[in-house]
Amino acid sequence: MTQKTEFEIEVNETVAYSSRSDRFESFCPVCKCMSEMATVQIAAVLTQKTERDIYRMVEVDAIHFIETDRVLVCLNSLPGYQRPATQQEEI
Ligand SMILES: [Zn+2]
Repeated sequence: MTQKTEFEIEVNETVAYSSRSDRFESFCPVCKCMSEMATVQIAAVLTQKTERDIYRMVEVDAIHFIETDRVLVCLNSLPGYQRPATQQEEI
């Protein structure tokens, strides 16, 4: 008689980000102004998408990005991203 044992493994990943270290002000060549940029990982967290979704949008030019030693995404162009209510823009 064979015995079958099932294991269930739950994996939780917590991504903590600090608005200071993972978001940058940089010049966006499409917006043609200084814009808030974030790493792909942070952009994924902010929009509740996967990193793969963000890379896919980068590849089809659906969102603005700059490429340095890593890819930075322009938050202005990110669908589904809303700025925190406490952050107000001066016009
Ligand atoms: Zn932009």
